[in-house]
Amino acid sequence: MAATPVSASEWRRRAREFAERHVRPLAVEIDRGDRVPDTVLAALGSERFFGLGLPPEWEGAGGDTAATVAVLDELSRASAAVAVTLAVHLSVCAQPILAWGTPDQKERLLRPLARGERIGAFALTEPGAGSDAAAIRTRYERVGGEFVLRGTKMFTSNAVSAGTILVFATRDAGLGSAGISAFVVPPGTPGFSVAQRLDKLGLRGSETTELVLDGVHLPADSLLGPEGSGLKIALSALSGGRVGIAACALGVAEAAFETMRSSIRDDDADWKRTRLAIAYSELASARALVREAAAAKDAGQPFVRAASVAKLVASRAAVAIASSGVEVAAPDGARPGHPAERLWRDARVFPIVEGTTEIQELILARDLSAGERSPNDY
Ligand SMILES: Cc1cc2nc3c(=O)[nH]c(=O)nc-3n(C[C@H](O)[C@H](O)[C@H](O)COP(=O)(O)OP(=O)(O)OC[C@H]3O[C@@H](n4cnc5c(N)ncnc54)[C@H](O)[C@@H]3O)c2cc1C
Repeated sequence: MAATPVSASEWRRRAREFAERHVRPLAVEIDRGDRVPDTVLAALGSERFFGLGLPPEWEGAGGDTAATVAVLDELSRASAAVAVTLAVHLSVCAQPILAWGTPDQKERLLRPLARGERIGAFALTEPGAGSDAAAIRTRYERVGGEFVLRGTKMFTSNAVSAGTILVFATRDAGLGSAGISAFVVPPGTPGFSVAQRLDKLGLRGSETTELVLDGVHLPADSLLGPEGSGLKIALSALSGGRVGIAACALGVAEAAFETMRSSIRDDDADWKRTRLAIAYSELASARALVREAAAAKDAGQPFVRAASVAKLVASRAAVAIASSGVEVAAPDGARPGHPAERLWRDARVFPIVEGTTEIQELILARDLSAGERSPNDY
């Protein structure tokens, strides 16, 4: 008999309990040490969070986008770094393999990802190619029955811990988007190295790295999807990923709101209560848009516009509310170690990751003038 599906609200309850027990007590240590402890990653695996959105056929935990969003939101309230680690694994590594993998690739790759034995990463950005992903310079060539990759990737999340990395490379930069293909790279492959771990303002604990691929030889079955489909794979993964990142931003916005609310006393000036009211309205919009984007994706409807606006509004809300939180709690709120200060630093990264605010505006502008399209059009 098939197992009864677990509802999104039950996933939320589990994630909240998990976050309170395993994550919140370590949030300051994760930020200061810039590291998510292995015990937390192992516990995420035991609770099956790494298998969210993957079918039981590959040991996945099931759960739709609404469930994933609920889990990321709850984890992010406690530690945005933990939530983003999970979001990257699920949305831009496991999901594209599920969508584009051959039966053999799914069999080989999805089980360890679902169990959390391997963490997933996604390497598109390069020193000279961020928003304009078609400008990547990491090259691949076919040598005999193999592919050989050479280049540098920048800002790759999860790559220190990763066991499976999606790497995007071009056959010939002159071909533009048509030259790009996606490859599955196991980090132990000779020629692959993590050149450096990048320090950063916020989301400390979520690994951010520079990767070097110096003649990495990959077998033919490392190609994900048809040759030349790499940019389509990357951009469709990012469209789905944006819903998850929006949920992570929402979690930070909620945490900042609660921190601000708890710092306001009865005899405080009225402007502080007004800030709280403004924050409440920003939070309500962000929450509604994140749920709407998840619902559209789960209903199989076009969701690119909904994902972009959710990411845009939730990341703006996180920055605005966290910024108010620092002011309301000033002067202590601006000091290292104060929760408002950490939340502000975490919030500030969300307008950049998985498509900057300006790129969301471009996507929206294009979509609004052209009408809704399929996610794979981007
Ligand atoms: C913490 C963190 C984690 C990350 N994780 C990953 C990861 O796992 N994998 C990965 O591949 N990448 C990752 N990135 C990279 C991220 O996706 C890029 O930083 C982002 O796409 C922007 O690229 P860029 O930084 O090169 O900025 P640029 O593209 O150079 O943009 C610089 C500025 O110009 C603006 N801009 C650019 N083009 C336009 C335009 N056409 N119109 C208007 N404004 C424009 C941008 O909005 C931005 O404000 C991560 C980044 C961070 C900070």
